Amino acid sequence: MKTLWAPWRMDYILDKGEKGCIFCQGLSDGAKLTLYSGSLSMVMMNKYPYANGHMLVAPKRHVASLEDLRFEEMADLLKMVRDSVGILKKVMKPDGFNVGLNLGAVAGAGVEEHLHLHIVPRWHGDTNAMTVLADVRVISQHLDVTCRNLKPHFELLESAG
Ligand SMILES: [Zn+2]
Repeated sequence: MKTLWAPWRMDYILDKGEKGCIFCQGLSDGAKLTLYSGSLSMVMMNKYPYANGHMLVAPKRHVASLEDLRFEEMADLLKMVRDSVGILKKVMKPDGFNVGLNLGAVAGAGVEEHLHLHIVPRWHGDTNAMTVLADVRVISQHLDVTCRNLKPHFELLESAG
């Protein structure tokens, strides 16, 4: 396991208390980083990404642990992981993905109270150089562009039900 030097993580920690849950907030104010909002699951861009295209897939219900999920929610979460990976493959053509859960602050969860899966696209030779070296503003520009490129594909999913 690599430890990343990620100064923008500090913003994340400072943000958290003020704004409440980023997932529930993302649903209520139609935040621009929300890519998809279905009946059970949602997909957001990670505001503080480890790589370009880093997404978060979460149940719409504000639950903290896997045991709190209903069966339909689990099935829908995994369906959204599948669809999100499919969209990322089409749009960003990564060579692979890291997909996973951080459960608890000790495991690296930035938002502990609302369960979410990370999808991080990976490219040959990326070795996280961008996230380590790039200025935070460069990344947030990437974020807007990436979000604009990905959103239409999720809108197709939404309209398909
Ligand atoms: Zn929440």
